[in-house]
Amino acid sequence: MTGYDLVLRSRRVVTPEGERAAAVCVRDGRIVAIEPFEAVPGEDLGDLALMPGLVDTHVHVNEPGRTEWEGFATATRAAAAGGVTTIIDMPLNSIPPTVDVTALETKRKAASGQCHVDVGFWGGAVPGNAGELPALHAAGVFGFKCFLVDSGVPEFPPLDRPGLDEALRAVDALFVVHAEDPGSLRPAPSSRRYADFVRSRPAAAEETAIASVIEAVRSGGRAHILHLSAASALESLADARRDGVRISAETCPHYLALAAEDVPDGATRFKCCPPIRDIANQERLWRGLADGVIGCVVSDHSPCTPDLKRPDTGDFAAAWGGIASLQLGLPIVWTRARGRGHALADVVRWMAANPAALVGLPRKGRISVGCDADLVAFAPDDEFTVDPTELHHRHPVTPYGGQALRGVVRQTWLRGVPVDGERQTGRLLSRGQE
Ligand SMILES: [Zn+2]
Repeated sequence: MTGYDLVLRSRRVVTPEGERAAAVCVRDGRIVAIEPFEAVPGEDLGDLALMPGLVDTHVHVNEPGRTEWEGFATATRAAAAGGVTTIIDMPLNSIPPTVDVTALETKRKAASGQCHVDVGFWGGAVPGNAGELPALHAAGVFGFKCFLVDSGVPEFPPLDRPGLDEALRAVDALFVVHAEDPGSLRPAPSSRRYADFVRSRPAAAEETAIASVIEAVRSGGRAHILHLSAASALESLADARRDGVRISAETCPHYLALAAEDVPDGATRFKCCPPIRDIANQERLWRGLADGVIGCVVSDHSPCTPDLKRPDTGDFAAAWGGIASLQLGLPIVWTRARGRGHALADVVRWMAANPAALVGLPRKGRISVGCDADLVAFAPDDEFTVDPTELHHRHPVTPYGGQALRGVVRQTWLRGVPVDGERQTGRLLSRGQE
């Protein structure tokens, strides 16, 4: 006997140092040793890649309050099926929004006992709650989300620039920002044409807002740009980082895989904010990832009920903005990344290690001794066609239906235990806890 609870052997273990054949040894939910492939008996995964579970720091669960849009049980089941073992829930779209300690407790109670993967929470910074932020941070949120533009829901209003400055001064925390400048937006006309919608939210809106966030954190604090779509903002982000400004950025699978030119008329399932832009922009986002200016790829999983997508009219102005891709992010990104010559280790860095580091989860996102045994067996060369009825999130609305993708998740383990979709073994995570 080896004294381990679980040993997984693979010819392709994706470690921070790259891919190699190894035996990953687990005891009490943690990786306690990484041995040569032949050295320890165990479950042989052969040529299936063994990767760390992905860490998705941008998920809208919406429970309680809008549970009919999405809930903890369905979202975390979709996550596990997609190889995601940790999600951090956004503070808005649920009611109440997570803007004080009482609301966080309400969220935790709603999530408790329902989760198939680990779940942490972002807090929200809104006008007038700067005084709540230190207590909310101490209660375990991983940082604070704010909008600089209308959020789409009335109970989560945006901050203006003085409000952002006040929030940054109120607490030493990570601020994650929806960066579009309201002054640069134009009213979206009622239209079935995607181009009309894109014109209403130009790249300049992101550029202006990101410049403002950079300016704000130059005098202190730490910010992260959510769901970067406009590649034209990459240069100012790179410059700021060179100056030592504590700013980082993420993008999402849809900005890397979909292009404005290809969106059919009336196909509101493609609507999100900021919008998907043209193919030349997409190419530059890939370069931003390769250069490291964009560190993370996360889903911005933001579902709603199918009627809110307005399939009756196909009106982009009236439809809810949000794309739900928690279950598909890995194959979407991997399919495109491999075509560009990236290794699986790159995808793991963007979708697991870097998001874990962003929120300060040292035991997540890596196959290293001491880390949680959150693991994924992945068949990188297998192909499948997206069938919306096989998606586990609450309403199977997706812009990816019928797409051929590479990479199939065969099995997901959470702390060394296979996730079976039946038992809710996910834990609620708090900032700073081991
Ligand atoms: Zn979002």
